[in-house]
Amino acid sequence: MSAETRYCYHCRVHHPANETRQITTKTGTRWRCLRSIEATRISEAERTAFGRSVSAMNSAEAQSRAQRVSELHLDQWNRR
Ligand SMILES: [Zn+2]
Repeated sequence: MSAETRYCYHCRVHHPANETRQITTKTGTRWRCLRSIEATRISEAERTAFGRSVSAMNSAEAQSRAQRVSELHLDQWNRR
């Protein structure tokens, strides 16, 4: 059984080799632990989901505003 460890540039500590992945960065290949990779992946997914919900909210708001405007016009039309 090997007690090999690798330095994780993300956590700045050594992790067991089987918990790390080699990744390529601008400055070369580095090792990073699976946990930090997963954490980054999740936070990016959350950010994307958040951005999507904001734009959905904005379009819903724009739609309800357009609805109010058309109702207003209809109201004026009916009063004539
Ligand atoms: Zn790490």
